[in-house]
Parts: sequence; structure tokens; C-alpha cells
Amino acid sequence: MLFEQLSLIEPILSALKEEGYTTPTPIQEQAIPIILEGKDLLGCAQTGTGKTAAFAIPVLQLLCKAKLTGQPQKGGIKALILTPTRELAIQIEESFAAYGRNLGLKQLVIFGGVSQHAQTIALRKGVDILIATPGRLLDLIQQKFIRLSDVEFFVLDEADRMLDMGFIHDVKKVITLLPTKKQTLFFSATMPPEISKLASSILHNPSKVEVTPISSTAETIQQAVYFVEKENKKLLLSHLLKDAAIKSALVFTRTKHGADKVVKDLHRGGVKAEAIHGNKSQNARQRALTNFKSGETRVLVATDIAARGIDVDDLTHVINFELPNVPETYVHRIGRTGRAGASGIAFSFCDAEEKEFLRDIQKLISIPVPVVTDHPYAMSNTSLNSIPSVKQKPVQRHHQGGERRSFRGGDSRRYAGNQSAKRG
Ligand code: AMP
Repeated sequence: MLFEQLSLIEPILSALKEEGYTTPTPIQEQAIPIILEGKDLLGCAQTGTGKTAAFAIPVLQLLCKAKLTGQPQKGGIKALILTPTRELAIQIEESFAAYGRNLGLKQLVIFGGVSQHAQTIALRKGVDILIATPGRLLDLIQQKFIRLSDVEFFVLDEADRMLDMGFIHDVKKVITLLPTKKQTLFFSATMPPEISKLASSILHNPSKVEVTPISSTAETIQQAVYFVEKENKKLLLSHLLKDAAIKSALVFTRTKHGADKVVKDLHRGGVKAEAIHGNKSQNARQRALTNFKSGETRVLVATDIAARGIDVDDLTHVINFELPNVPETYVHRIGRTGRAGASGIAFSFCDAEEKEFLRDIQKLISIPVPVVTDHPYAMSNTSLNSIPSVKQKPVQRHHQGGERRSFRGGDSRRYAGNQSAKRG
């Protein structure tokens, strides 16, 4: 199935093309037609399955259609997306901005822990789609910066996590402030009784969509971390790339500038590499990707945004030159290797400043990432001793034992997280 077969409007299709998406994920394939029909939805899916696009694309289309058909438009917020964490909120806002880039709708993300000033200024300018965490939303409602009386679409994201994090009362309060007539999309990875009760109280005759894991292929991904000083990272990368077993490597950096720098350093060492990031034209990106897929370029250096939607068969290695500050991004990154039962290897370089990020990643995936100490650029023992400890998450939070999954493109689904630690 292709996105073209989902009755989507041209401006959305072309935005998806620019994102590099061709095939809808299973949850998208199932949920998009239901939402476009105007029905309520109960979606059982975790982060990594493509669930954000599964609700963002049809909501954008319905909002846009209403605008085009000349229906009288109310001035307020028309779609509210409630999500438990700031990181998820930011990612959802980025998704709406990306898929809706040709539509002229306004989206805004608000969350707590930061000053509300910039958020209230943005709210005053008018917002069509609001992505919010519950606490800050209620704060701003109370201060009369936000009213929800015009909301036509309500998305509750990660309902079970709202419960885990103690936000369920806030969520219920928000629900009481919404108009009765609206379309509701309810997402949760698991359905504990309280969540199930909440779902049946707010959904009207919902269609149910569930994506269940097919296999836990991430067990085939070997993870390893190298503690290394920032300035030695390029040397370590060249050192590792001497190993011919690294047939193809997708190297991740946090910034575009960083990606270009890695490519330059690799060229100096005679390694064929290309960078792919937002400053490159669509053509240049496509060319780099084609060269990489054909094996002509051995190393592709990418930023997370540019790497979205990249799906390369037989990718043997993912190398995190810099660790991401959002732990979910690590799962997305490494999920690009080890496809369809093939073995994959994910190396991460961690300097002193990134230990915090590593700790967050280990917390998320519930396992410590094995450390490689035997390499020429290892940091001193003292630094190694300060590796943050791993707190194990309680098992059975999700029905697959607390695992996280990471979608990798096409209709394959990947899981990373509950694999046993393998020494690399
Ligand atoms: P989510 O489950 O919404 O967090 O999405 C997981 C990742 O998959 C995100 O990085 C998305 O950009 C990416 N993604 C979602 N849908 C598709 C698709 N149809 N094709 C390729 N990548 C996708």
C-alpha cells in the first residue's frame, strides 16, 4: 500500500514525499481511513510504530478540508493533542509542522518547566492545532490564555503513561472542558482497567486499531558504547572503520555542521562518506542516499531530521557519533540496522558531557549498554567509574515486558529495548 491509496490531498502527499515516506506503517494504513471518515478511534500502539503520523495526517486533512469548503471557521483552537512528556510534545509538533508544511495551519507546542511568556505570546497570535502536556495546559486555561470551546479534534496520546506519571486527574479535568461534539482519538500502548474505563467513557462507538509485535528483531542488534573524549571521536571513528566488517555505516550527529565536519575528516582519511541534512537540496540528499544504498558510499552521516524515513536494507552498522538528548531518538536510530533477522551493530560514542544522555537512554531501554574498554582512545578509568548507574524499570509495564519499539520504515516493525545485553 502507498500513501497515494489513502485518499490524501496533494499538499499532504507532497509533504510526505519530502519527508521520504512512501509506505504507510500498519497503524497508519488502518487508522487514517477511519479518522478521515470522522469516527472515534481507539489505538493500541507504542511510540515507534508511526502513530504520530497516523493521527496527524488525517487531522491535518480534515482541518484543511473544513477551511477549503468555506465552512464558517471558529477562531479558536480546533485540534488539541494531549501528551505526557515535553519530548513527545516537541516531536508531535514537529510532525504536524512537517506533514502540514503546505497547508498554512498554525500549530503550537506548550509544556511546563519553562517560562510561559513565549507560549502566551504565540497563543495570542492564534493557533489551529495545540500540542500540550496536561499541567501547563490547565495552568494556561486557568489564566484564560486558552479556551477549548472550539475544539473539534481531541487526541489523547500515551494514555497509560499519563496514568503512570500521575497525570490522569489532570487529563480527566481537561476532558470536562472540551465540547461534547468532537472527534476523539485515544492512544495507549496498554489498557489497564482505569485506562479502559476512561476510553469507554469518552469514545463514541470507536473503531479499534491495534498493532501487535511480529517478532522482537532488535534482539539481533548488538549495542556497545565507547567512552571517548570529544576531540578523539574522529580518530576513534577512523579506527573503527578500518574493520572491513563495517560494510555500511549510518553515522549520526546532532547538528548539520557536525555532519559536514565528520565527512571532511573521513575524506582526509580516505574513507568515502557523504552527509545528508536539511541544508542540502532534496536532489543532493537523494543522490547521497542512492550512492549509499548502492554501496558506492560506505558511510552516510546524517542528522536525525534528515534521517527520518531513511530505510536502507542490509545496513550493518549504526554509529552514534554524538548521543541524542532525546532517548527515544536512540531507539529510532539503532532500529535502522538489524533488519529482518539480519544482525546489526550499534556503536555509540559517549564523551563526558553526554553521560547524562546515556543514563536516560539506559533508563528508557531498561538495560545497560555494554561498554567497550579495549580501544586506543578510551577515557581514563576515573571517568569510566562515573558511568551513571542503570535503574531497571519495573517489568511488565507494557504487555511485552516494558519493551519499546522502533519503527524503521516500510511495513516492518522493530523493537528495541528488552533484549538481553550482549557483549560486543
Ligand atoms: P512515531 O511512532 O510516531 O514516534 O514514529 C516513529 C518514527 O517513524 C518517526 O521518526 C517518524 O518520522 C517515522 N515514520 C513514521 N511514519 C513513517 C512512514 N510511513 N515512513 C517512514 N518513516 C515513518
